[in-house]
Amino acid sequence: MEINVRTAKQLVDMCRQFADVVEATISEQPKPEVPPSWSPPVGVPIVSEYPDGVAYAPEDYYCATLHDLTGVKNDGYGHSGIDLNLAKHPFGDVDRGQPVFAVADGAVVVVDYSTSYLGCVILRIEWDWKPLQVRADRWIGEKLQSEQVIIETGQPTFWRYWHLENDATLKSMIVGMAVPIGTCVGHLGNYTLGAGGDHLHFDCALDKFGPRWWFTKHPEIRWVDPLEILAHRLGKDAVDVMVWK
Ligand SMILES: [Zn+2]
Repeated sequence: MEINVRTAKQLVDMCRQFADVVEATISEQPKPEVPPSWSPPVGVPIVSEYPDGVAYAPEDYYCATLHDLTGVKNDGYGHSGIDLNLAKHPFGDVDRGQPVFAVADGAVVVVDYSTSYLGCVILRIEWDWKPLQVRADRWIGEKLQSEQVIIETGQPTFWRYWHLENDATLKSMIVGMAVPIGTCVGHLGNYTLGAGGDHLHFDCALDKFGPRWWFTKHPEIRWVDPLEILAHRLGKDAVDVMVWK
């Protein structure tokens, strides 16, 4: 068979053009979102009933006392994160001993224990999703400044679990070790210094911070609302049951 060279060249060109179109079309497709790979920091519910056997209402599973760094939301009591515990006094201590979990794959950057504040674990977690805009607060001198910042894909975030029992789980946390999502990083300790009783103090900073820092005025620390981030990863409904409104 005789091949028409000119026709063959035209065919090759057409194929190349077609390939270019296909490639352009593929690259225009929206990238699939990373599937949810985050976990609540605490089991919901952590206990299923009051000591007298009465079932909890969903809104009683946890309360997050809503705080901010200035104390405006909390009777002047400035605070870097949220406190998760059972809402009803005096049942605030029945969550003692309950496990708390890594919200995402991370690594241990701080392990600490003191008789005042009990155990503390801080996890470094790289943002594994599309960039997210959040509000970040920090102290500049005596003034609290808020700014909108973007957590970029791959950016480290630092998550603190505080007031943990000094038990075998806490002791097994070693700085530098990888902690997969859902890993139990500790158990709620016997923290009865305040009226709220035992609770998990849970907060998040965009910068590395010290184990016992809270309501800090270190200008390099940008605090963000952990619930805001969790709401993006877990959905609002999942986060709402942690919050006492
Ligand atoms: Zn707290």
